[in-house]
Amino acid sequence: MRVAIQGTYGSFSEAAARRRWPDLITVPCREARDVVTAVRTGGAEAGCLPIENSLIGSVTTTYDLLEEAFGDGTLRLTHEILYPVHHTIMGLPGARLDGIKRVLSHPVALGQCQVWLSEHLPAVELVSAWDTAGSAEQVAREKNPALAAIAARHAADAHGLVPLAERIEDDPTNQTRFLTFTPAAAAPLPVGNAGASRYKTSLIVLIDHRPGMLALTLQAFGVRGVNLMALQSRPERSAPWTYRFYVDIDGAASDPRVAEALEEVEALAARVVVLGSYEAWIEGSRLSAPPPTPAHHTRKPDIPLVDRRRAPEGTRVQVGPVTFGGSERVLIAGPCSVESEAMILETAEAVAHAGADMLRGGAYKPRTSPYDFQGLGVKGLRYLAEARARTGLPVVTEVLSWEEVAVVGHFADMLQIGARNMQNFTLLRAASRNGKPILLKRGAGATIEEWLMAAEYILAEGNPHVVLCERGIRTFERATRHTLDLNAVAMVLERTHLPVIVDPSHGAGVRSLVTPLSLGALAVGAGGLIVEVHPDPAHAMSDGAQSLDIPMFAALARQVHPDRPARARVALA
Ligand code: PEP
Ligand code: MN
Repeated sequence: MRVAIQGTYGSFSEAAARRRWPDLITVPCREARDVVTAVRTGGAEAGCLPIENSLIGSVTTTYDLLEEAFGDGTLRLTHEILYPVHHTIMGLPGARLDGIKRVLSHPVALGQCQVWLSEHLPAVELVSAWDTAGSAEQVAREKNPALAAIAARHAADAHGLVPLAERIEDDPTNQTRFLTFTPAAAAPLPVGNAGASRYKTSLIVLIDHRPGMLALTLQAFGVRGVNLMALQSRPERSAPWTYRFYVDIDGAASDPRVAEALEEVEALAARVVVLGSYEAWIEGSRLSAPPPTPAHHTRKPDIPLVDRRRAPEGTRVQVGPVTFGGSERVLIAGPCSVESEAMILETAEAVAHAGADMLRGGAYKPRTSPYDFQGLGVKGLRYLAEARARTGLPVVTEVLSWEEVAVVGHFADMLQIGARNMQNFTLLRAASRNGKPILLKRGAGATIEEWLMAAEYILAEGNPHVVLCERGIRTFERATRHTLDLNAVAMVLERTHLPVIVDPSHGAGVRSLVTPLSLGALAVGAGGLIVEVHPDPAHAMSDGAQSLDIPMFAALARQVHPDRPARARVALA
């Protein structure tokens, strides 16, 4: 393999490329641009260029070359290589450190040894050279004992010099990331993550100067669960104060989610250049074990994924220490809305004491009127997280739109999809991709079949952690807010393997019915309850009429968990 590098024999680029191709034949080039030309014209079969250093950051000359080199699609990135960079200062045999007057090296290398140089050679002249190994070659050629070079240790051997001091870099973790490339025809795009290999994809994106365009572009990856590994902007030379963005993402361009995201980015951006999908260097990088590839179903399975026949013994869904679908009934309690920090902390501590397993509370509220309290948003999420920290109760909270999935998923242990959104398929998919367990409430006008198909959306998108929640449907009856459909509970328990719980608060909309309906639901076979509890229901900002106060909840909890230790009960009695 003939591999073009910037620099000469003994350079870091050569040593890095050798990690990939141990028997390579080096094709030395003066500039990065010449490396590209060598590969384009067949002077070399592959090229290897530094792209980033862990201490000083991006190698901008390489970045600036990429569009011009890869824009026409004839070259493609093939590998990433991480190489530890330890610097040695070297001189002629017999030279002494205190006799050195001038030090030659690549400016990047000089930059990486600033601390050592100012301490040991404060008065010397620092001279920039094309490359580290080339400066060693120059010292050897000039035969001047007052000259020294900073380069890799093996460059001293390559050019007949002796080390004067080793490992002089400012930080011993110093390493450089290199990228290798070949003609595109010689580099078929990898298909998915094969075996232990991991792929990254790099692209250049040019976007119009309009508010939100960069966010929109990056969001294409974020909402699909595609991790962004690096983002770099460089000035667009032909148009001052505009920028192009270099994006590295985790995954091959052929991964379905990456492919979908790229299609969206290509539609949004003024121009996209895919530089390649290439094997990532695992050791020492931020990539660890490949994430489990979620089972993503696009074709209809013979038996629906929610169907009980797929798991006749029932599925368990784990939320922290809480198990849905096991032998223990799960009791979720908390206010309809998070109203303030003090209020959620007080409620959380009270329901935890009374025997709740999980905390509920809405930060994003679906309200019938736009003038009603809409929730505290991200502040509410923070307060919920604080309540979890104080009580140990995992938190379930509603996510109203796909844009908010990431932020809600960041704070919550379980995402609630509310009745109004049960058939918001975009939201179902986005929530599924987030990976957190999902509480799927039944729409007030949804049939059992529609409810199960909504769950099927989440499962088909790859997230198996779904709990169903019956919360009442709309009937002709106006004496109660909704009609709790216990038929449906009994029926879905026959038809699905997913855990099923009941919300008696919204189910009736009447406080006095909450306890009897809870007991009815458990009798029918529900695996748990989600109940609205407020320390002062008369002044609740939403759903006060159906909220239990703390003593009422404590009484209910005693009936749900009669075998729980008495400690919690005594505290509240
Ligand atoms: C809620 O849990 O506060 C809520 C709005 O529920 P649903 O979607 O069932 O109306
Ligand atoms: Mn409510």
